[in-house]
Amino acid sequence: MPRYASYPTVPFWNENFEVEKWTSEFQHKFDEQNHQDGIAIYIHLPFCESLCTYCGCNKKITTNHSVEEEYLLAIEKEWGLYRKLMSQTPVIREIHLGGGTPTFFSPRNLERLLNSILKRSITHPQYEFSIEAHPNNTTVEHLKVLQKIGFRRISYGVQDNDPEVQRVINRIQPFENVKSAIENARRFGFTSVNFDLIYGLPLQTVESIEKTINQVIELKPDRIAFYSYAHVPWTSRAQRLFDESHLPAASEKILLYLKGKELFLNNGYVDLGMDHFALPTDELYKAWKEGQLFRSFMGYTTRRTGLLLGLGVSSISDTGGAFAQNAKALHDYYELIGIGQLAIQKGYILSDLDKACKKYILDIACKGYTEFRVEDMEILEEYSIPKLKGLEQDGLVTLTSNGVSVTDQGRYFIRNICSAFDLYLAKVDTQKTLFSKAV
Ligand code: SF4
Repeated sequence: MPRYASYPTVPFWNENFEVEKWTSEFQHKFDEQNHQDGIAIYIHLPFCESLCTYCGCNKKITTNHSVEEEYLLAIEKEWGLYRKLMSQTPVIREIHLGGGTPTFFSPRNLERLLNSILKRSITHPQYEFSIEAHPNNTTVEHLKVLQKIGFRRISYGVQDNDPEVQRVINRIQPFENVKSAIENARRFGFTSVNFDLIYGLPLQTVESIEKTINQVIELKPDRIAFYSYAHVPWTSRAQRLFDESHLPAASEKILLYLKGKELFLNNGYVDLGMDHFALPTDELYKAWKEGQLFRSFMGYTTRRTGLLLGLGVSSISDTGGAFAQNAKALHDYYELIGIGQLAIQKGYILSDLDKACKKYILDIACKGYTEFRVEDMEILEEYSIPKLKGLEQDGLVTLTSNGVSVTDQGRYFIRNICSAFDLYLAKVDTQKTLFSKAV
């Protein structure tokens, strides 16, 4: 079942995407958006020193840090190509560094990368800069450099503290590292710290996850993303290393989730839906409370991103009306950027009907309700409403003549509810080969 970071979801985008169409869509949106609200930039930094076997991200495993230089040169060149498409000085509202492991790069190189983007740009007064970091290799120097540039949000991949689970997923990360990672982040002025945790990993039990979560709660991260492990060995080859008998069955996986949720709620966290929990002091909670939550490839964000520009291998850009994804293989990315072309290999221009379905899905994922537009009723009657009626019988939604809202019980099944508006899923007989199971 898709996670709906986009609609249509990536498997339905076009491989023969016309880059010219994308560039004119990008320029149009940039002109509309830049002075009004600024733009958001996602930079994909793909290198990791070792392979976590559960991982489904686009990454390159190496311990050779000389790769940093070539990659930075390519990103700087790609940014230069986009700068030529911009009619005015860009106003940067958001930067998010994701990976891979962004903290694989030296503090000096991260500083150089960020300065190369910020030096001929205007930083929006309400800018938000964030980074995904690995507790094992985030140094005090990384934090100092990022803090100086204006980063206040950091997300650590914690996943699970149990040594046996860590052994089978090949991510040895002593709890002491996690503890000092969050303490250092706070010391250097990061006001919002997120932890990513995963349930459904091999060898996890209710007891082991309870222990992990109790340790995590002691450290009081501001946000927690509690993701379901997506078992997709047909696309993530390293997952084939797992002994499948070690994976919790669907019924056990639900118990792992319920135990986590109970512990979060009993310790002051609020369930924002779709795997996310936050303390009431965190901006994400405030955005949720005010109905301002937004969802994009950067996960849940506190504001609607009008124009997202993705830089780096496999990164995704979103204008609201079109998506574009860069080449997923590093050599293809280097080759295209090297000859002075944008590295786009896949994309999608949304129709009016796509935009309507995207809005319904975003509403469900971010607010837990949506209102139907009169002009969409014919297609909704034909496709979505029969599905929603089935979900209503299961107690997951409440349907009225002009909208639908998610019940408390339905919050665990947000992805299934979103899928009622996914017209592309209807065309697929073999969903299981494209997406992981919902549970
Ligand atoms: S989980 Fe993170 S650190 Fe591990 S291989 Fe994947 S991207 Fe790299």
